[in-house]
Amino acid sequence: MILVVGNWKMNPNSPNKAKEIFEKIESKVKNLKSEIVICPPFLYLPILKPKIKNLKLGAQNIFWEEKGAFTGEISAKMIKSFGAKYVILGHVERKKYFSEKIWMIKKKMETAQKENLKPIICIGEMKKIKDPKKILKKEAIALIEKTKKLPIFAYEPCWAVGSKRPCPPKRAKEILDFLKKFLKTKILYGGSVNPKIAKDYIKAGFDGLLVGSLSLNPDQFSKIIKSCL
Ligand code: PEP
Repeated sequence: MILVVGNWKMNPNSPNKAKEIFEKIESKVKNLKSEIVICPPFLYLPILKPKIKNLKLGAQNIFWEEKGAFTGEISAKMIKSFGAKYVILGHVERKKYFSEKIWMIKKKMETAQKENLKPIICIGEMKKIKDPKKILKKEAIALIEKTKKLPIFAYEPCWAVGSKRPCPPKRAKEILDFLKKFLKTKILYGGSVNPKIAKDYIKAGFDGLLVGSLSLNPDQFSKIIKSCL
């Protein structure tokens, strides 16, 4: 079953709008044979209540400590108590704007796993380079070293995220085939996915998709999902 994750980033601006979008998505995806995860801003987790089995909640980040003097942070236990089952970690925007490093992402991943949350770990080259395989391998291996349980990964080349320039599926497949040699786990593709191109990543062998801006548009998001089935 494919996994489609919607990253709402810091949107929308009001709880009513968040509920409206969520309910529209829910009505469009019920009975679809795929696991769908919506990752809204933390504040909306308590007001979004999935009513169907194939729709789950996730968060966009957590802190690695359980509790304490960490101003502005949110713990794994907190998101779990509001229904989150998944958490996106190491998103390119966290690396870019908050200087997240691999060691931090690894600690967050371990904390998430301890709480039985499913981490979705983003990896991807930070610049457009000819062959990012070596960089990706180094990043992925550092993340999974001494880890008992492999997380879900999302391959998100930073130049494709939010750019409306998705990575050509043929190139993404080359990367996927390489990653699959040492990552025996689910790998998603993310970066400007739209309804026209979505199925090409599934055909290429990806286990699902990580969708940013279009996951806030119920029509487009459900089209993306349906096109992959
Ligand atoms: C993302 O936020 O992970 C993402 C892939 O964004 P977009 O689909 O907008 O490129």
